[in-house]
Parts: sequence; structure tokens; C-alpha cells
Amino acid sequence: MEKKSRREFLKEAGAAVVGAGATLPLLTTAGCEMPGHNIRGSERQWAMVIDMEKARNPAVQRACTEACRAAHNIPRIEDPEEKIRWIWEERYEDVFEDQIHDYTPEEVLETPVLVLCNHCTNPPCVRVCPTQATWKREEDGLVMMDMHRCIGCRYCMAACPYGARSFNWRDPRPFVDTEEDGTFPSEYPTRSRGVVEKCNFCAERLRDGLQPACVEAANQVPGGEGSLVFGDLSDPASEVTRILSSQRTIARRVALGTGPNVYYIV
Ligand code: SF4
Repeated sequence: MEKKSRREFLKEAGAAVVGAGATLPLLTTAGCEMPGHNIRGSERQWAMVIDMEKARNPAVQRACTEACRAAHNIPRIEDPEEKIRWIWEERYEDVFEDQIHDYTPEEVLETPVLVLCNHCTNPPCVRVCPTQATWKREEDGLVMMDMHRCIGCRYCMAACPYGARSFNWRDPRPFVDTEEDGTFPSEYPTRSRGVVEKCNFCAERLRDGLQPACVEAANQVPGGEGSLVFGDLSDPASEVTRILSSQRTIARRVALGTGPNVYYIV
């Protein structure tokens, strides 16, 4: 496979997908009441709320990324073009480019913000996948990924407006931290070269009645309690619903109509 830079690839694939726009409605708002407002069609809708003030703590951010790395055998690859990222930090300016203006203080622009897959209600990544390797789960709204069905076309990467997906340019297994006995830290399946991956909201932990690894880790950091909250938006009594209906929160690029299910307390 000829290697292209992430930027080159996204540019080309984006053009290809736009060219196929007649049959691949990328960012349609069909099924949305209005941009950013979700139709609650599923029995559950898992969602995350990130308190930006508490979660800017480097210890919280490190705890999240390392817990996720261990839970999913994520390789430690430093090359920015090849990095595999499920949850990571970006500058506020790059995360909320539609929320800034000429007078936004430098300190705000530079604030590190945790980002991950938004498990969108109208996920454009799902619409463009030619093999249904990625799909939205009816029962709880998670946007899932079957690495065995992924053919590495990377249309989903071009379609995702949040850069939430990573491509394995090489076999990731040699770059996964191992235990002293050489085993991987988690039973979560390792991936191979040529497939796309992303955050799964810890579907395997939810199945066992646990919180996502990042949420659990963040809340164990002194001062990090409440920095990440996870729950069911279809439950009016859930903590996430309570926060969203009582505090000022924002989500990423809601005007696109994707319906992100990761929210930020500002
Ligand atoms: Fe798909 Fe990106 Fe939305 Fe995740 S954030 S569901 S990868 S469009």
C-alpha cells in the first residue's frame, strides 16, 4: 500500500467521497430535529460529559489516555502520521474552531481538551463504509467497528469531521506495551496492519456493567472527580441528562448535523 501523509490522504479521499455525493449523503441532517439535537430512537443512548475545567488537569488527561491504552492494547507510536488515538488532547482552538472569535483569550485557545469519537447520532463514517465494518448499534447508539470487515479504504476517516479515527499503517502489535511476562495488558483483540480503529466507548466494559476505562481512571485522580461523566441520555434520571439540562454545555461542530454524544461543560 502506497503510503501517503494523513493530510494528503484525507484530501484525496474527501474529494472521492464528495464526488460520490449523489449516492453517499455525507452530512445530511435527515433524522435530526435540528442540527445537534438527537432523535432518541434507541433504547439507550450512551453519552459522555467532559468538564473542561477539571479535565484540563494533566494528571486527569494522562490517566484517561493510559487507561484507554491499557484497556485496548493501543500501540505507543510517536510518529504523528501513524499514531493510533482513541482519546487524546487537542487545543481548544482546534476542537471548537466554531466557538472562537478574534478576542478569545490566548489562554482559552491553548486549553488542552480531551477528544474522542463522539458516537454520533447521524454518523457520516457509517454512511460511507462500503463493507459495514462500522455501524451504529440500535440498542444503545454506540458506533462500532469490526476490524475483520475493514478493508482499509479509509473513507470513514475522510467522512469523520472530528478526526476520530486512526489507520494502522503498520502492524501495531510490536508497539503495544506488554506485561513482564510478555503478554498484552488486555484481552481486547489486537489489530493488524491496514485497518481503521477508534474509541468504542468501552463497549466490552459496558457489557460487564462497568464504566468506560477513561471515566473510571479520571474519577480516581485527586481533583478529577466528576471530570468525565458517562451515562444514558434516554434516562431522564441519569447524571448525564441532569448535567445537560442544568449546566452550560457545548458539543463539537453541531451545525454539521452529526449529533455528537460527547458534551463539554464550559
Ligand atoms: Fe463517526 Fe467521527 Fe462521529 Fe465517531 S466522531 S461516530 S468516527 S463521524
